[in-house]
Amino acid sequence: MSKEEVKVLIIGSGPAGYTAAIYAARAGLKPVLYTGAQPGGQLTTTNDVENFPGYPNGINGPEMMIDLQKQAERFGTKVSYGMVTAVDFSGYPLKVTVDEKDVVTAASVIIATGATAKYLGIPSEEKFNNKGVSACAVCDGFFYRGKEVAVVGAGDSAAEEATYLANLCTKVHLLVRRDEMRASKIMQQRVEKTANIEIHWNAETDEILGDDSGVTGVRIVNNKTGKKSIIPIQGFFLAIGHQPNTSIFKKYLDMDETGYIKVIPGSTKTNVEGVFAVGDAADRVYRQAITAAGTGCMGALDAEKFLTAKEHAEVQVAVG
Ligand code: NDP
Repeated sequence: MSKEEVKVLIIGSGPAGYTAAIYAARAGLKPVLYTGAQPGGQLTTTNDVENFPGYPNGINGPEMMIDLQKQAERFGTKVSYGMVTAVDFSGYPLKVTVDEKDVVTAASVIIATGATAKYLGIPSEEKFNNKGVSACAVCDGFFYRGKEVAVVGAGDSAAEEATYLANLCTKVHLLVRRDEMRASKIMQQRVEKTANIEIHWNAETDEILGDDSGVTGVRIVNNKTGKKSIIPIQGFFLAIGHQPNTSIFKKYLDMDETGYIKVIPGSTKTNVEGVFAVGDAADRVYRQAITAAGTGCMGALDAEKFLTAKEHAEVQVAVG
């Protein structure tokens, strides 16, 4: 068991984590950032980011994350390719276990662990995971060039994945469980204008069908009529939302029913002193790269204020 002591420990390497790192590093706090299992976070599974201010022509997601990492490192952030597997916030300093063995002691912790794609929870989905079932069109779409696929979901992610896949695949079946989509108007219009996307309204996934070669079709059921039908496909893509990656903090932090960390409004402060939550792990509403970056900045400023106040209090105790 090795020990390391840091002033600001950042967990997560998406826009929230790296922005927190840039601010903490520039404040001279020598932050240490643990990347987690997916260095760069969710944006590494996105193609073009068109809505991040400052990029008039858009930017490729993975490229943006490499730039953010370089910017954080330039000011002295130590980026470690480790996974935080446990925390102990019962006392102070705070303790974080990395890769189930190394204990890091921290004066403050910024949680930027983001969120993970949700699955439907049907057995056939698990059976064919990575054999035709995927939760990331940008990662896996390439394998389905010239083939027919289905996307389940009706939000912006589903709209984006469907239009992305429509460029590669012969046909995309969009499975929408209600008679309307949740996606923004502009994204819906893109879907509707794409000739090789067919929207199936009131369609629920009954079963993903396949054999040794992988997925061969999907059986859907119309939840208004009860009618079942089979669509021959080779790829099945999930785009039904995300689950915050916060389970390791459950014992110590206040969360909502889904697992989003509760923060004091207008700040990134959690119920534990010295622990701050930023990005999608604490945001069930906006969940954008720019809002994640914004709260990452807030987290670093909150941590800095906390550390300064703590140092002053310690000096006063020593003097007094
Ligand atoms: P959302 O939570 O917005 O949408 C999830 C969708 O999945 C809903 O339409 C929901 O249906 C559907 N769904 C959930 N569970 C099931 C199920 N079991 N079976 C079938 N359908 C299901 O998640 P997104 O990931 O789409 O978006 C998250 C956030 O990220 C949003 O704020 C979005 O605007 C943003 N975003 C922005 C992008 C951009 O601007 N480029 C791209 C991608 C995301 P129902 O509507 O019936 O509840």
